[in-house]
Amino acid sequence: MRHVFYFSPHQDDELTNLGVDLSKEVSVGSAVHVVLCTDGSASGVKRMLCRGDGCRWHTGAHHYTLDEPAFVAARDAEFTESCLALGVPRENIVISPLRAPDSMLTADRAEQIMRQALSGYAPEDCVIKTLAPTSAYRQNPDHTAVGAAAERLKGEYAVSLLWEFILRPADLTGFTVLRPTEAELSRIKKAAAGYRLWQPERGRYAVGYHSVADEFDDFLKQPIGIAVEK
Ligand SMILES: [Zn+2]
Ligand SMILES: [Zn+2]
Repeated sequence: MRHVFYFSPHQDDELTNLGVDLSKEVSVGSAVHVVLCTDGSASGVKRMLCRGDGCRWHTGAHHYTLDEPAFVAARDAEFTESCLALGVPRENIVISPLRAPDSMLTADRAEQIMRQALSGYAPEDCVIKTLAPTSAYRQNPDHTAVGAAAERLKGEYAVSLLWEFILRPADLTGFTVLRPTEAELSRIKKAAAGYRLWQPERGRYAVGYHSVADEFDDFLKQPIGIAVEK
């Protein structure tokens, strides 16, 4: 059995940055695992939800004061729903007990998270997939950390890195561009809907969408995965 482990820095990276590749692994019947590496708590949406602003999607002002655990829980719910919609079995959706506070992930911590998630599996049966550390671009530090950790594990595991969608180079020569089939696209759209779900009375605040709406819209318009050939 081929086990493919996706390490997602935040709630949403498993979709916008890793989702096309992930959909394809689901399609070919790999055992797909997704491991969340931070808590996503640093998002500005937490403030945005409580300070009385409006937004482009919802009528009226937002006066929802969430404490940090409630905010993280809202994001985790979006993440879990997205993974399920993408076709990941529930038992393979992992919120790492070692996850770092948002923006505090280091390569050391990411390596620990990876080793813990992979323990119990034969290295030859496993593939690590995560974001490439694209240091030449302005990349989120948590994104750089997962990529750096994956590079450290290259001698022990098969590692495959994906380029961040929003940082995609204008010239994709040298990259493998993945495009979803119709069935994969329908799973991707269903996963995206989880990040748009607005049901404050049930703890759902569309955090993903409030946070990076343009990125979601861009991605859904032309969903591609960009694998780095090495
Ligand atoms: Zn991220
Ligand atoms: Zn809103």
